[in-house]
Amino acid sequence: MASIFTKIILGEIPSYKIYEDEKYYAFLDINPNALGHTLCIPKKEVDKLFDLDDETYKGLMIFSKKIAEALKKAVDCQRIGVSVIGLEVPHVHVHLIPINKMDDMSFNSKIKLSDDEFVDIMKKIKSYL
Ligand code: 5GP
Repeated sequence: MASIFTKIILGEIPSYKIYEDEKYYAFLDINPNALGHTLCIPKKEVDKLFDLDDETYKGLMIFSKKIAEALKKAVDCQRIGVSVIGLEVPHVHVHLIPINKMDDMSFNSKIKLSDDEFVDIMKKIKSYL
């Protein structure tokens, strides 16, 4: 069965899309740690990061870097934290999280955003791409 992220790529489930190219897709995390929390995924559905073939792995990192640079410009933060977990969704995803302190990388502390707030930050990040 297709992963929830494959359904997002196919447009079967809506997402706040930041950017996509032929092989990768970036969108806002629906339950963010911080404003601008973005997920970067390969369109190829693979569960674990280190099971990706080398080309897709390297491409995902380069794609994530491009998105992270735009995210850093869009959100007032010290840096962009990077995490790969995958315990919830078995489709490789790189978390890009604007951070100011270590706790901002904690997945136990979440923020709530309205639809308008998701749309605003999505547009702002896109404007720097
Ligand atoms: P992980 O698998 O790395 O533990 O976490 C999965 C992440 O995907 C979580 O941060 C969760 O909020 C996010 N997520 C799960 N389902 C959806 C969804 O349908 N849409 C979006 N945008 N994010 C999701």
